[in-house]
Amino acid sequence: MRTLETFTYNGQPSRVIFGSGTASLIVQEIERLGSSRVLVLSTAPQEQEARKLAAGIGEKVAGVFPGAVMHTPVAVTEQAVGLAMSLEADCLVALGGGSTTGLSKAIALRTNINQIIVPTTYAGSEMTPILGETKGGEKVTQSNPRILPEVVIYDVDLTMTLPVGMSGTSGINAIAHAVEALYAKERNPIVSMMAIEGIEALYGALPLIAENPSCRDARSNALYGAWLSGICLGSVGMALHHKLCHILGGTFGLPHAETHAIILPHALAYNAPSVPDAMAKLRKALRTDDPPIAFFELLNRVAAPRALSDIGMSASDIEIAVEEVFERPYWNPRPLQKSAIRDLLGRAHAGARPAI
Ligand code: NAD
Repeated sequence: MRTLETFTYNGQPSRVIFGSGTASLIVQEIERLGSSRVLVLSTAPQEQEARKLAAGIGEKVAGVFPGAVMHTPVAVTEQAVGLAMSLEADCLVALGGGSTTGLSKAIALRTNINQIIVPTTYAGSEMTPILGETKGGEKVTQSNPRILPEVVIYDVDLTMTLPVGMSGTSGINAIAHAVEALYAKERNPIVSMMAIEGIEALYGALPLIAENPSCRDARSNALYGAWLSGICLGSVGMALHHKLCHILGGTFGLPHAETHAIILPHALAYNAPSVPDAMAKLRKALRTDDPPIAFFELLNRVAAPRALSDIGMSASDIEIAVEEVFERPYWNPRPLQKSAIRDLLGRAHAGARPAI
């Protein structure tokens, strides 16, 4: 029996459609929202898929903007807002990962245009009212209910092309949202339930995708886990892991998903002594005595990089990162100790096993 617990759960209202072939339901979702002029968004590499999706939507498409890039630069957003206004668009359809979702959210924040997000990675941004934008080299993050998409359509078919490397790192990025939700300041049984379900789904599916990228069941499990992990990210505050990744991405331009994948085992090992309940849940879900090592070994199993030095961080950046962690303190279940954070980053930089 559960012991009595007092908690607050904040549900994020958005409609979710999950399955295979579900992108074909976009037209009916556009009509349900009462919209009729759609601007389709994507990155340049996914332009062809975006135009194919636009062709399927047909006459309701007013335009396609294939200009989304990483970290949502304000200059790109302003260009897209200009296009949306000139086309009198009343609905955005974003096909892609966190970068395209970020552009959609940034446009919606400025215009209040409806959003339908069709995620093709496991980043989880579509489930959060959070937007990080860059201007003049600085990344500013804000949270606003207007940012949250009206509809999210998960279509497993559109994730089949996600390259093996990106599938692994993006999937571990999602696991990191769920892991930090288990020990978040605002943790609660509902979010923890979704976190464990998401971690189990992703932890099982990612190695199968690495072995056979066209396995639809593995892809479906990974996407399901990514959805649940995205809800975790949008529902409770995060801690050390996300703080470190924010600094490493923002200050040194390290790639988002790879950075999350490398840091996860180390951040969890750091917090482990202070979060016994979360560790007990993880041990049970992963069927291991040592969750940080299990995540460290997962990097090998999905052929992800293990060292920050492999993704462009120089050794001299470690001290800069340590200073930044302490410049703007962030809530964490285990108090931050400078020498231990330096050691954590040193290990992550070298690709060494996490310190238990
Ligand atoms: P991404 O969106 O930048 O995608 C990486 C590359 O993969 C792009 O070139 C993209 O076009 C390509 N790609 C995506 N899906 C593909 C597919 N199915 N097949 C082939 N190629 C595909 O990467 P990401 O990791 O999804 O997103 C990272 C961005 O999202 C960062 O800017 C991060 O800050 C942001 N993010 C925000 C939140 C939030 O809640 N605000 C959450 C997570 C991530």
